[in-house]
Amino acid sequence: MADSKATSNNKTKAKTKSTKVKCSICKKEFDRKLITKRGNRNYCPSCVKVMDQRNKDWDLLFQYICEIYECARPNGMMFKQIQSYKENEPYNYTYIGIYYTMKYFYEILEKDVNIEMGLSFVPYYYDKAKKYYNKLYDIIDTVEDFECNEKIQIIKTQIHNKVKKSKEIPLKGLTEVTYEENNKDSN
Ligand SMILES: [Zn+2]
Repeated sequence: MADSKATSNNKTKAKTKSTKVKCSICKKEFDRKLITKRGNRNYCPSCVKVMDQRNKDWDLLFQYICEIYECARPNGMMFKQIQSYKENEPYNYTYIGIYYTMKYFYEILEKDVNIEMGLSFVPYYYDKAKKYYNKLYDIIDTVEDFECNEKIQIIKTQIHNKVKKSKEIPLKGLTEVTYEENNKDSN
């Protein structure tokens, strides 16, 4: 528009600086148009995406805790446990990973939860849950493959194998899987 002429003619430092905004998370500078502003903070497109997903995962975990422990919100100990599992070695768990571990514990293994113990069972079951859902994910994938023609099958398998090797958080891709239905068959 009107300023396109101005920017192309005289790219002064002041002008460039005023249109660039620093992302509050990655600290890189972006064009103001690309920035999402929330409160006092500015987010670049990729950081806002990651943050929104994390918030969605957190909401899911939060709701699930309330549901199975029959409480209005997680208690202080639970918050501390989640924080610790998320930020500390050797855990470095994700919200979605903790959520699936709890689902595995409560719905698949049908174990009881105890408000006084909170999420203390999570570290013991995290990898077991991961294995369980990975296997399930493979089964779903195989079923899907049967519906495709041969050529697609081969490509899919190749891609899948590649993805599998580099995949660090396999639980991440499982958000849309309706494993409750699949579980009925495997029991
Ligand atoms: Zn960023």
